[in-house]
Amino acid sequence: MIHYKTLEEIEILKENAILVSKTLAEVGKAVVPGVKTKTLDKLAEEYIRDNGAVPGFLGYDGFPGTLCLSVNDVIVHGFPSDYELKEGDIISVDCGTIYKGYFGDSAYTFPVGEVDEETALLLKTTEESLYLGAAQAIDGNRIGDIGNAVQQHCEAQGFSVVREMVGHGIGKDMHEDPMVPNYGKPGTGKKLREGMVICVEPMINAGVKEVYIQDNNWGVATEDGKKSAHFEFTIAVKKGKPQILTTFDYINKLKNKN
Ligand code: MG
Ligand code: MG
Repeated sequence: MIHYKTLEEIEILKENAILVSKTLAEVGKAVVPGVKTKTLDKLAEEYIRDNGAVPGFLGYDGFPGTLCLSVNDVIVHGFPSDYELKEGDIISVDCGTIYKGYFGDSAYTFPVGEVDEETALLLKTTEESLYLGAAQAIDGNRIGDIGNAVQQHCEAQGFSVVREMVGHGIGKDMHEDPMVPNYGKPGTGKKLREGMVICVEPMINAGVKEVYIQDNNWGVATEDGKKSAHFEFTIAVKKGKPQILTTFDYINKLKNKN
């Protein structure tokens, strides 16, 4: 069942989205060779609590961290750990919040120092596909329009789209209807209506699309061991033009300082 949101609810979801966006940038500042991923997790938890919110993932279905920290071939749901990031790695930072009874959810994949050319293209293409998918979140379009935009863009570069995990509606629950796949045919699937708030989150692999679940029963990794990228926005469906509630502006500002 889809929960359509009032403008007041969308405002609260936006407050969550902005806090998640700022948290991702705080974490981004600390993504350097030698840092332990659990250090990033601690930093995010403190930042979220200092801003009067609660981590959205911590304890969710028993998840042990504030962030899902997924390095290289891990696509999503990686645990914070003693692993030390090294030059050339990539790390997907997926962050959730709970504030005023609603959830925030956004993700960004950071390069650690310099990455190789194929990896840089994977990050660029996946982020671009997020914007292209988000642009389809318009009243009257269908879910398949979003997935198709993501899929076409990524497959044109020879990358593959993960099928097992998808985007979702968001509100008082982190995962609400509808499901939002990153693949699909234009003009198919559920009709998008103003008042829907959804998370679009392309998970794109450099190699094959197939995945496996890691021994901790959480981490999802690429079957061929090649890298995977993950970017996520929370978006309010509107007439004419979507309202993207999250923003990578705080992250992009960091880049401009370097
Ligand atoms: Mg997420
Ligand atoms: Mg999500």
